[in-house]
Amino acid sequence: MRIALFDDWRLGVVDPGGQTVRDVTAAVRGRSGGDPFGAGWWVRMCRDFADAGPHLIRAAAAATPVPLTSVRLRPPVLNPTKIVATASNYGEHVAEMRDAVLARVTGQVDAWLLDFDVFLKAPSSVIGPGTEVVLPRAAVDQGKEVHHESELALVIGRGGAAIPEAEALDHVLGYLVGLDMTVRGTGDRSRRKSYDTFTPLGPWLTTADEIADPQALDIRLEVAGELRQAANTGDMLVPIAGIIAYASSVMRLEPGDVILTGAPPGVGEVHPGERIEASITGLGTLRVGVRR
Ligand code: MN
Repeated sequence: MRIALFDDWRLGVVDPGGQTVRDVTAAVRGRSGGDPFGAGWWVRMCRDFADAGPHLIRAAAAATPVPLTSVRLRPPVLNPTKIVATASNYGEHVAEMRDAVLARVTGQVDAWLLDFDVFLKAPSSVIGPGTEVVLPRAAVDQGKEVHHESELALVIGRGGAAIPEAEALDHVLGYLVGLDMTVRGTGDRSRRKSYDTFTPLGPWLTTADEIADPQALDIRLEVAGELRQAANTGDMLVPIAGIIAYASSVMRLEPGDVILTGAPPGVGEVHPGERIEASITGLGTLRVGVRR
C-alpha cells in the first residue's frame, strides 16, 4: 500500500501506478489533521498498522480516485519524535569524502567523520514533495557548499529498544525517498543538516510488504536534469537491519520515527533555481526546488 498525506493532512492511498489518490481519512479514528500536537492518530496508525491496514484497504476500495495532480502532497510523516540519520554507509561515498570533499570544504580530514555512525536531524527540517529547499543565507554568504544526499528512508511502525538485528525489519512500517541536505564545513553535523527544509521526504510511504528486498533498490538523483547519484541499496556497508539494531541500542525507536540510511556516492552542490529529482525503485520520485 502507498500511504500519502495530502491537502489538510488528509490520509490517502495512492494507486500502484502513482497517478491517483483515494481519500481514506474517514477510516482513521481520532484524526486531528496536521496539527503536530494532535498527531497521535498518525503515531497510533504507525504502531497499530497490522490492525489499521485492512480498514484502509476497504476504505480505499470504496473511495473515488482523484488525480494526484489535483492535490497537494504533504510529507508522508507527521511529528516524528526523531529523525535518525546514518553516516558513512557506502564505501564509495566514504572515499569521496576522504579524497575530495572534506579537504575542500574544511581544509582537513577528520577521521571520525568517515566512520559509520548515527546522528539526529531536527524533525522540523522535514518538507514534502513539490516544495523548496531554502539555502541558509549565512551559509551562502560565507561561500559554504550546500549538498544533496539522496537516501533510502524508512518509517518505524512498532517501536522498540535494543531491537535484535534478526527482528529489525519487522519494525519497519514502510519505505520512502529521502534527501539529507547538508551544509558542508566544520561544525556539528546535526546543526549542518537540520536547517528548516533540509529533510525532503516523499512522495508517499510504501509499506514494507510491497518491497521484496529493500537491499536491492536503485537510487537515482538528478539536479537540473544532470544525473549526480546512481547507486544500489545493496552497496550499504551496514544493512538496514543493522542500522535499526545499532540505533535502537542507543535510543528507543518510537512509532513514526524516521531513519535515513546513508548517502551513496555522488554528493554535490545545489544552487538557487535548480530542481532536484530523486527516485528509488518502487518508491516513486521526490521532486523539490532550491531557492535562497
Ligand atoms: Mn546523509
